[in-house]
Amino acid sequence: MSGSEHQHKSGFETRAIHAGYEPDPVTGAVIPPIFATSTYKQDGVGGLRGGYEYSRSANPTRTALEGALAAVEEGERGFAFASGLAAEDTLIRAVLRPGDHVVLPDDAYGGTFRLFDKVATNWGIVHDPAPASDLDAVRAAIRPGQTKLVWVETPTNPLLNIGDIEALAAVAHEGGALLVVDNTFASPYLQQPLTLGADVVLHSTTKYVGGHSDVVGGAIVVRDLELADQLAFHQNSIGGVPGPFDAFLTHRGLKTLAVRMDRHSDNAERIVDFLLGHPKVAQVLYPGLPDHPGHEIAARQMKRYGGMVSFRVTGGQQQALDVCGRTEVFTLGESLGGVESLIEHPGQMTHASVAGTDLEVPADLVRLSVGIETADDLIADLDRALG
Ligand SMILES: *Cc1c(COP(=O)(O)O)cnc(C)c1O
Repeated sequence: MSGSEHQHKSGFETRAIHAGYEPDPVTGAVIPPIFATSTYKQDGVGGLRGGYEYSRSANPTRTALEGALAAVEEGERGFAFASGLAAEDTLIRAVLRPGDHVVLPDDAYGGTFRLFDKVATNWGIVHDPAPASDLDAVRAAIRPGQTKLVWVETPTNPLLNIGDIEALAAVAHEGGALLVVDNTFASPYLQQPLTLGADVVLHSTTKYVGGHSDVVGGAIVVRDLELADQLAFHQNSIGGVPGPFDAFLTHRGLKTLAVRMDRHSDNAERIVDFLLGHPKVAQVLYPGLPDHPGHEIAARQMKRYGGMVSFRVTGGQQQALDVCGRTEVFTLGESLGGVESLIEHPGQMTHASVAGTDLEVPADLVRLSVGIETADDLIADLDRALG
């Protein structure tokens, strides 16, 4: 059931479960085995079986994951990496050259910003920030002839702003650039940027795709085959690939993405309703709310609104810190997208490094990664923590 012909005919859940792998012809194994091997016997010099030569270049467990990733994003080829940042680094080196310019989200994931600002910059790559929710600002930030990538996240972290992928693709292409969408927060179940005109989809599969907080990984999916060849060459040349155990875990997570995302969204909606009625909550940020500035666009390009919820409390920073310290079902911690609920204070945790810059987030902000536990337990936990 692999191959693009099949991908476009079956539904998301079917692709997530079957694409990229057929039961093993020798044993009938229904699930891709963990091929813990670094090298492969050749049938005479250069006589490769199925193209496998050395596991940095390709490994069957990873091949199965890469096929499934391409299928769920409706792309032509998928690439798996050792982390989201390894995926980003490989993309940067595959498509950018010294002197090239990139438009970054003004609220980019901190690690992405650091990779451009502190690493890529040493190789002469320049960048400017623009809010992905403001098309005119993105257009103005593009330097025609020099800008090679427009990079966006939607929804963004932790303010959950929304960018219009279709319109951003048009703006990027007008300016001669490719549109890269970091689809980590939405996951491929809720949003498929390639179908809206994006050129590159990128994931930290550490989050919703893996979904169980037990493996770090990254992915890139593209449609253009020439770009895919460039990425394949750089993936192998740089070597930031996942091992077979990691590929197995990520693939196992992907199979249940649809049911998990629906429950994440159900629980988040319940929690949003609860927070909206709580006297100590000043504002709830969730793209599913009709008064969210990106709601209409989100309704168009997302299937549902996902499991990330941010809110501001009435009592300032101390109250936000107190809430984060008092929950018992929500675990205090960074990261997101796992089955277990997490709570954090962006100002002093994930976004501490941007304090004092334009990217600073409100001190009274709390971010939730709503898990798939019993919704009533999550609400009771927040109610207790809010006091
Ligand atoms: C976590 C994350 C990354 C980085 O991925 P790693 O797997 O931690 O390297 C990139 N973008 C977003 C939106 C993330 O949440």
